[in-house]
Amino acid sequence: MKIYVLVKEVPDTYGDRKLDLETGLADRAAGDVVLDEITERALEVALSYAGKNPDTEVVALSMAPETATASVRRALAIGAASAVHVADEELRGADLGLTAEALAAAIRRGEPDLVITGNLSTDGSGGVIPAMLAEHLGFAQATALSSVEIGADQITGTRAGDDGTQQVTATLPAVISITEALPDARFPNFKGIMAAKKKPLEVLSLADLGVSADPAAAPRTIMTTVSEKPPRAAGVKITDEGDAGAQLVEFLAQNRLV
Ligand SMILES: Cc1cc2nc3c(=O)[nH]c(=O)nc-3n(C[C@H](O)[C@H](O)[C@H](O)COP(=O)(O)OP(=O)(O)OC[C@H]3O[C@@H](n4cnc5c(N)ncnc54)[C@H](O)[C@@H]3O)c2cc1C
Repeated sequence: MKIYVLVKEVPDTYGDRKLDLETGLADRAAGDVVLDEITERALEVALSYAGKNPDTEVVALSMAPETATASVRRALAIGAASAVHVADEELRGADLGLTAEALAAAIRRGEPDLVITGNLSTDGSGGVIPAMLAEHLGFAQATALSSVEIGADQITGTRAGDDGTQQVTATLPAVISITEALPDARFPNFKGIMAAKKKPLEVLSLADLGVSADPAAAPRTIMTTVSEKPPRAAGVKITDEGDAGAQLVEFLAQNRLV
């Protein structure tokens, strides 16, 4: 079985995250960048299966600026056998539609049986790339899975919603997205880090993929303005002088929270 895992480099949520107010894009120089944790978990789903099924090939795929090589190599250090990095300056500011088109073209070249993604990235938070990929590829899709079982010709999994859980099945080839309910990724060890330096890492441009970023080629979303979140206002501190309960109720009522 061949599994493609979609890994994305994002600004570290533990550090300062800023928008570049001129371009509206994440300011990558404002802090550290890391592999999005949800995509490391997606990688873990593939690697756990590969551990029990030795004829499995796990490929990490990322669309990111050229500077993201270290993040792509991290996926190799964790255990992917090879990686594909789609890097092209024309993709700067790519909307969800162009991203899905470029990623789908890269996946098509590899002809995988299964594509595993995170359900929502911590920076863009679009949450629709998995479904868009399935549509482009003509694959079945099962999204937001909190448990996954991979079989020879189908996947089964659980989707947890607010009102209950659903058991779903999709025949392969399929695109699945997973939630944070799945286990953390294994940590890359020294052997993995050294091995990653020699593993195949293919860098592809839009021309290689036959995809055009020209807005005339397909409808694209254009960001018209961007502004920073207003700073948080200071909270209200209630000192208990015997009437804290009443003050709390008044505060909640005033702010329409009850
Ligand atoms: C030069 C360049 C600059 C970029 N700058 C930015 C930027 O500033 N901010 C930004 O958010 N994005 C940037 N991207 C990436 C791209 O535009 C976004 O990934 C895209 O819009 C997807 O949105 P999302 O993360 O909200 O998707 P979601 O639907 O929330 O993502 C769900 C899952 O899909 C997969 N996925 C999504 N995007 C990618 C990807 N690019 N590569 C691999 N897997 C992916 C992951 O598994 C993810 O967990 C850049 C890309 C390039 C090449």
